[in-house]
Amino acid sequence: MSTVSLKKSGSGFLLKYGDVKLALDTGIKGETTLLTHSHSDHIGGLKNAQHIIATKGTFETWQARRTDSFSNKTIIKHDDMFGQIGVNITALNAGHVLGSTMFLLEFHDGLKVLYTGDFNNVDSLVHRAAKPVETDVLITEATYGTPQWVFPKRKVVYEDILETATRMMEEERIPLFHAYSLGKSQEAITLLQSGGFSVISGNTSIDKVCSVYQQHGFDLQHQTLQSHNLTKSLDEGAVIVSSSSRHTIDNLKRTLGSKVFAQYEAKLEYFNLSGWTLGKFRERGFPLSAHSDFNGLLKFASEVNPRVAYCFTENGRALSKHLSDNGIHAVPLE
Ligand SMILES: [Zn+2]
Repeated sequence: MSTVSLKKSGSGFLLKYGDVKLALDTGIKGETTLLTHSHSDHIGGLKNAQHIIATKGTFETWQARRTDSFSNKTIIKHDDMFGQIGVNITALNAGHVLGSTMFLLEFHDGLKVLYTGDFNNVDSLVHRAAKPVETDVLITEATYGTPQWVFPKRKVVYEDILETATRMMEEERIPLFHAYSLGKSQEAITLLQSGGFSVISGNTSIDKVCSVYQQHGFDLQHQTLQSHNLTKSLDEGAVIVSSSSRHTIDNLKRTLGSKVFAQYEAKLEYFNLSGWTLGKFRERGFPLSAHSDFNGLLKFASEVNPRVAYCFTENGRALSKHLSDNGIHAVPLE
């Protein structure tokens, strides 16, 4: 059995095993790319890719926010397998954003490799948790790969967000929740909607991604900044979900005029929805993350039970050490 070679390339990696070469979350001339999802840190150089394999959700959330498209693509469904010379490729739910995928690679000599991309191993209101499968090699993200990143239960985070939104309404303030346009915004809108709040999305990029989620059956009933009854909603008590507060403010100013906007601006209260609100960064907000936390990463790796784990992202070195301490041979990918 030869060994797996992994080399950093652009926003991802080039994996080589025997005669098989695959680009993971990056575009490399002449190679096939396995694209786990369409967040901007996973899509470098895709125009170079010879062929892209991803889910419908990944291609659609990509195209919702960009003008380029791909001619040579294969749409794969979760739990379906795509065979090419030397390897069978199965897409598995990653629980991170719509369509997000982990790739299980089964080489013809029997070697199994799991590439997680970004993943979340707990259920959210909009995404199902990623489930581990046993493989020989695990290539895992390590975003929250140190012990300071242990998140409270999602239910508790949800309750805290709703409680704050309620308090803001009572105090006649306008809460603005900052969340990434793909994935987190849709979770925040679903949560706030379920709490009975009138939700306004603050950016067209959120609106575009929401329309893809709606096509996939999600019930998102937010208003946009273009809604004709915007001031009525704000006066009656609404919450804003924004992926860029600067753009949201510019757009509100343009829509309402500077004078009217100034009355609302004075009422705005900003909150971040991110794992980084914990620990050393201590931003004002709530630790709502689309990634597994430290304990989640350890638990997932131990259930995959690999002979070797490769850890990527900036905490790769730290997570490798913790996995090794837990009896899993692990190496950072740098
Ligand atoms: Zn991501």
